[in-house]
Amino acid sequence: MSGKRTDYITWDEYFMGVAKLAGLRSKDPNSQVGSCIVSPNNKILSMGYNGFPMGCPDDEFPWEREGEPLDTKYVYVTHSELNAILNYRGGSLEGAKLYVSMFPCNECAKAIIQSGIKEIIYGEDKYPDTPSVIASKKMLNAAGVRYRRYVPTGREIRFTV
Ligand SMILES: [Zn+2]
Repeated sequence: MSGKRTDYITWDEYFMGVAKLAGLRSKDPNSQVGSCIVSPNNKILSMGYNGFPMGCPDDEFPWEREGEPLDTKYVYVTHSELNAILNYRGGSLEGAKLYVSMFPCNECAKAIIQSGIKEIIYGEDKYPDTPSVIASKKMLNAAGVRYRRYVPTGREIRFTV
């Protein structure tokens, strides 16, 4: 009997929780996605959320989803996965794991593969029938990047900041 706590959170709950927490920083009114990159021995290496590149003000660039391409967010926004990869300045991500609250698009899949990340643990797979996600899975499968859906435990985590 060591007397240690037994209700501590699991690694998966911890890292998916950190990914979701990062997503809360997003200014996007419609989708908040967060990512957390973890080393093979469970050390957090980087985090990211969807937003505009540095120096591109959130109040001047558009968050619209419809309209002329240059008036929508799509041509400007950096996804959480790419942000997390680019935010890491410590060296190689070879063999790392990526926790992300939504299944990565094809553009992020390219960056994930090229960065050496070997496993993706994702939350929702909201758009499985879109060309973007189909292409993403096709590339991840070909490149041998494993992916598995995070199994929600239903644990509610609350704290005051
Ligand atoms: Zn993406």
